[in-house]
Amino acid sequence: TERLRAHRSCTTCPYCGVGCGVSVTRQVATSDAGVSVEGDRQHPANRGRLCVKGSALAETLGERGRLLRPRLHGRECDWETAMGYMAEQFSRTIERHGPDSVAFYLSGQLLTEDYYVANKLMKGFIGSGNVDTNSRLCMSSAVAAYKRSLGADAVPCCYEDLEHADLVVLVGSNAAWTHPILFQRMQQAQAKLVVIDPRASATSETADLHLAITPGSDAALFSGLLNYLVQGHHIDRQFVAEHSDGFQQAAAAAAAWGPDRTARTCGLALDELLAFYQLFASTKKTITFYSQGINQSTSGTDKNNAIINCHLATGRIGRPGCGPFSITGQPNAMGGREVGGLANMLAAHMDYRADHIDRVSRFWQASNIARRPGLKAVDLFRAVECGEIKAIWIMATNPAVSMPDAAQVSRALRKCPLVVVSDCVTDTDTARCADLLLPATGWGEKDGTVTNSERRISRQRGFLPPPGEARHDWQIICDLANRLGHGEAFTYRHPADIFREHAALSGFENGGERAFDISALAGLTRRQYEQLTPVQWPVNAANPGGTARLFTDRRFFTGSGRAQFIPVEPRLPRQQRSQGFPLWLNSGRLRDQWHTMTRTARSRRLLDHSELPEIQLGPADAADHAIGDGQLVELRSARGRMRGRAVVNPAQPAGQLFAPIHWSESLAADSRVSALAEPVTDPHSGQPEFKQVAVHLRAV
Ligand code: SF4
Repeated sequence: TERLRAHRSCTTCPYCGVGCGVSVTRQVATSDAGVSVEGDRQHPANRGRLCVKGSALAETLGERGRLLRPRLHGRECDWETAMGYMAEQFSRTIERHGPDSVAFYLSGQLLTEDYYVANKLMKGFIGSGNVDTNSRLCMSSAVAAYKRSLGADAVPCCYEDLEHADLVVLVGSNAAWTHPILFQRMQQAQAKLVVIDPRASATSETADLHLAITPGSDAALFSGLLNYLVQGHHIDRQFVAEHSDGFQQAAAAAAAWGPDRTARTCGLALDELLAFYQLFASTKKTITFYSQGINQSTSGTDKNNAIINCHLATGRIGRPGCGPFSITGQPNAMGGREVGGLANMLAAHMDYRADHIDRVSRFWQASNIARRPGLKAVDLFRAVECGEIKAIWIMATNPAVSMPDAAQVSRALRKCPLVVVSDCVTDTDTARCADLLLPATGWGEKDGTVTNSERRISRQRGFLPPPGEARHDWQIICDLANRLGHGEAFTYRHPADIFREHAALSGFENGGERAFDISALAGLTRRQYEQLTPVQWPVNAANPGGTARLFTDRRFFTGSGRAQFIPVEPRLPRQQRSQGFPLWLNSGRLRDQWHTMTRTARSRRLLDHSELPEIQLGPADAADHAIGDGQLVELRSARGRMRGRAVVNPAQPAGQLFAPIHWSESLAADSRVSALAEPVTDPHSGQPEFKQVAVHLRAV
């Protein structure tokens, strides 16, 4: 007789920044083992709901395609050989060429505990700031803008604000596909919805007003809005006078953006522009969500600040139903920001300032703390190509697909003397460039925490044993630390040990100066850590149960305690259309796929795609180029080329194309959309411009 036992555990979805809770049931029988998932009804982010990707999670498990043993130069080896080789190569490189000759490149797929030890090893003990993350490609402009205006990388709002809002403005986001459960909450809210996006999408279909602006004109739109608010006397004078600085300068910069000029620049009819402005001006409870359409730009930080300026000018921050709300793409982009996963941050939201360097150094008892920021992603891979970086460890990400000018990244990695890749899957474009491949645990096996878009820390709980010889990322990092002679600072036996230290650092000599403070969690026992329920930071003595909404007291994390308006001069995208490259290419996610499909493609119900990416184009462009539906087409830019199947879509604006981001060379040759993008970046954040790429189209 079969004995059937059911193990139930609660964890989080590993896909997007909504951070939905997942309830997992694992049936363990003598002859069978199965996993089923459903939404966790107790989790505040999703209250029991899952989107199609989340609900297919059980179908993505199993050993097919998994990396099960280390491989050195293409041959399987044991861990001792792999780690011995890696430590020797890192030691020799650091000794000969200094700490800045090595780098780690991390991922929003890692858990906070993995991120914390990687950052501590590189910045505290190896002595280089060269730790960057794929979150650089996702939301680093939002980080830079929040820091400029609010004094900290601190999202002011929470999802519950949707229930209080009367107007939801969604900019540069197809949330219906990219953040589906959050979008469902937007639809259920009793608020009007304005969608600002150059192209029609599943999201804009449901909007009360869709503004199909000219690609890249967002800063002009919000500068025009600030000017409209000033001219129409819609400013919250008391808030501006008592809690902010720089209003006059920002208003003066926006004064050039009258409605006629703004409408022309944004490609809108004057009446639709004014309809949006009137709605914003007259609706006190307004929340503005924004995502990669704003961030992935050479002026992404200014675009963020143009939005934040409008919220500050109307005092719409720190109150229910109000605020500028950046939504992150990855499940733990926020957790990475907390521990210093970005090259220009140190740890626990501390910067490369003398007092912060000293503080972190004393807390870690660091033997060799980095004293200056490291290289941001685009510069980091340039340094790999020109030989300045001679050893790189890439964890849980695929930069040979996701970086702009992706061919350059592949080229750089092939030239690099040591490329280590730790991942849970065997075959990725980046893994193909590796000297050493290390098998890491994946979702279902990993144990730790993640932080979602609303600052909510949730547990990700392992419910399956690691397959083959896979190890947790934090264990591999501690092993390297030990072999490099720093073992005494990396004695963790469980992720709870790491989390406690991370929480203690957040409160170390933090007299309310820094937003990120989870010091109330520094004393968690292992059992309490196991049972940790989702909580929003800060979690400290003043707010032991967490904090739903920031700035309710009108005090900001700037030196003066006052919010800062930032004067914005709207700029055009760096990649401009020309005679040779006359079309705009936009890119983004599909509803049912995730990143480079290494997991989602395992599910039959999600894998409803063609061998090649589908390139959307409008009927006029199809006629001009004599291209029919389903035809093989090629896109060329100044950087590279890409092939795909044409899909003629009447909703696609003339002169604009759209392609998905998920394809890679390991799926089909010349299918990477990122190969077309110039590696040009925002001067404040270092985030690349992916959304406006000038291309040439032809039938093949
Ligand atoms: Fe997962 Fe995001 Fe879907 Fe929630 S909305 S189930 S976090 S992919």
